[in-house]
Amino acid sequence: MGSTNARSAAIAALTNFKSIAPRVNFKDTPVKDLYASNVFTTEVQRDRLPKAVFKKLQQTIKKGTSLDPSIADAVAIAMKDWAIDKGATHFTHIFYPMTGITAEKHDSFLSPTGDDTAILEFSGKELVQGEPDASSFPSGGLRATFEARGYTAWDPTSPAYILENPNGTVLVIPTCFVSWTGEALDKKTPLLRSMEAVSNQAVRLLKLFGKNVDKVFATVGPEQEYFLIDRNFYFARPDLINAGRTLFGAKPPKGQEMEDHYFGSIPERVLACMLEAEHELYKLGVPVKTRHNEVAPAQYEIAPIFENANLAHDHQMLTMEVLRRTAEKYGLSCLLHEKPFAGVNGSGKHNNWSIATESENLLNPGNTPHENAQFLTFCCAVIRAVDKYAGLLRVAVASAGNDHRLGANEAPPAIISIFLGDQLNDIMEQLEKGSPSSTKHGGTMELGASVLPKLPRDAGDRNRTSPFAFTGNKFEFRAVSSGQSIAGPNTALNTMVAESLDYIATKLEADVKGGKDFNKSLQAVLSDIVKQHKRIIFNGDNYTEAWHAEAEKRGLPNFRSTVDCLPYFISKEVVDLFSKYKVLSEREIHSRYEIFLENYKKTINIEAQLTASIAKTQILPAAIRYQGEVAHSLAAVKAAGGNNVAEQEAMLKEISGTISELQKKIAALVHAFEHTASGSALDHAKYSKETIIPAMLAVRGLADKLETIVADDLWPLPTYREMLFIK
Ligand code: ADP
Ligand code: MG
Repeated sequence: MGSTNARSAAIAALTNFKSIAPRVNFKDTPVKDLYASNVFTTEVQRDRLPKAVFKKLQQTIKKGTSLDPSIADAVAIAMKDWAIDKGATHFTHIFYPMTGITAEKHDSFLSPTGDDTAILEFSGKELVQGEPDASSFPSGGLRATFEARGYTAWDPTSPAYILENPNGTVLVIPTCFVSWTGEALDKKTPLLRSMEAVSNQAVRLLKLFGKNVDKVFATVGPEQEYFLIDRNFYFARPDLINAGRTLFGAKPPKGQEMEDHYFGSIPERVLACMLEAEHELYKLGVPVKTRHNEVAPAQYEIAPIFENANLAHDHQMLTMEVLRRTAEKYGLSCLLHEKPFAGVNGSGKHNNWSIATESENLLNPGNTPHENAQFLTFCCAVIRAVDKYAGLLRVAVASAGNDHRLGANEAPPAIISIFLGDQLNDIMEQLEKGSPSSTKHGGTMELGASVLPKLPRDAGDRNRTSPFAFTGNKFEFRAVSSGQSIAGPNTALNTMVAESLDYIATKLEADVKGGKDFNKSLQAVLSDIVKQHKRIIFNGDNYTEAWHAEAEKRGLPNFRSTVDCLPYFISKEVVDLFSKYKVLSEREIHSRYEIFLENYKKTINIEAQLTASIAKTQILPAAIRYQGEVAHSLAAVKAAGGNNVAEQEAMLKEISGTISELQKKIAALVHAFEHTASGSALDHAKYSKETIIPAMLAVRGLADKLETIVADDLWPLPTYREMLFIK
């Protein structure tokens, strides 16, 4: 008895694992031939479209002019023919609803002609607009069911692509998802609107620097962290399957304290999986660049080269999907949850962000940043924005899952601050007082042995504890979680920076119009920004208690949890910001607020129910069986006249005591989630946080204790030790 539970079956299966994945081979198809081979690229468009149509389409893509509807048919035909050449039978409008994942509905190109034959058709109308029967997506009250129409609208700025399946291929068309009144029902629409907002203001500001550009792009390079564990373990853990994270698990004897995993050699099966994932991503034109082991055991990272925020978003969603699918082929499960294992580092998605024209990164300081007025202006705009709307950045990364990460001593804390590094900090200090006159340089590092090259020393050191760090030529927003869409954080960033650029441009324009010297005016504006907003700059260790106290003194917001920060999302300040730049209307903001709260409540509720059911049906039975074994044995020993049993009696008492405590805590948990809180969505969320989460933790505490007592062969759930260290 006991030796055939799911856990031992998983270990047995794992020992016998043989990969069935076909081998990928970069020798026969080199990356340069593979790259973007499944994308309706500019080259394909040039080849397949009439010249005039191609030109008009490119104008929309590059300059953001609105799409000429008369070219839609021609584009649709070219797209369809290309897709059919690639084996496609169906097309789909892919969209990004408020669930945070991607959605698609497939339609075939097939069109019967009425005489037992069929032709393959795809019209401009079908390309430009789709109407999925998508009434079940969360809309936060924007759609009553009687007016449940949601439309998908083609986004020509993100190229269509082919998704392969062993049994066929599908043409995928990136779209926005809106209600019939034009309100955003997705994460993509506001992102595009925010990119336009930041572009408009940056173009305006650049004009003052004598530069005429049509468009400025927010650029994003998201670094994705994830866990890979054996799939057999995954299937033996109902909590991983249904909640994405473990709700139980005693701390393993060896955790990450040896730090021997970080940048260590990549296990063979994992590397094979990464290679295939990259192979797939190359075909889709996703510029993946780096891979390595992360800090926690079984944790890895994949990062692309940055792209404009829209493409970066779509490619990021694809990356998560490809990682998940590919892992399965290698007998692995890819965990994208931000905190799959308590007591072990969680996963983030470092969001590297900048703004650039076609030819220039506007956050590139150059060699002498103190002389680079344009750079300093854009940099000050970011500093002002992050200080003014720190709360909004916090909201943009808020979720039940990320609450486990932010504020724990690993991920950045929930207090938003900016790390500038020595060099830039020094320049900002000079700027506050007047015109900066020098740049601190790092010099070169002597590496000791004469055969080694001299390396330039970075003037800005790294600070891994800051939630928002300047890293050379971009800002890295680190509070974003591994599982979330990057659309929200970048929508927030783009919009708040647009507001600061607007503020600076408005001042400068007025001064110049009033006859003031441009440089003098700029100096004054920037100096003033540093004075007003330097409280947001912090170059020390963000994990310390001292920083928490200091931040409070500086008046920086510290929203510890999702429930604490969400109300700020509907504050006048935020509503004014988003409405002014036409990124989100008040109604759209309120609908999102409701969705976020609802989502929070549902997440906790699912976790609570899982906790109770796993505790009741897996953990308690194991503990009771073990209690029986001990009791039996004790009785037998006593009957045989053995009297050296004091420890065994104590042991039995401990088991029984813990079992009884656990039963009480399970009952309390069930009572907590069966209780229906009345009141607003916020009240429900608060109740989840204040009543249900503590009840869950109480159950877990006792269950984890039992894991350290109950005989190993009876324990039903794969342990942390097994999941994290058997590769
Ligand atoms: P780091 O070691 O600083 O994390 P990388 O150069 O590997 O550095 O950059 C991390 C991510 O930042 C990559 O995805 C990279 O493409 C991205 N990145 C670099 N420059 C920019 C930029 N100007 N805008 C947005 N992202 C950028
Ligand atoms: Mg980085």
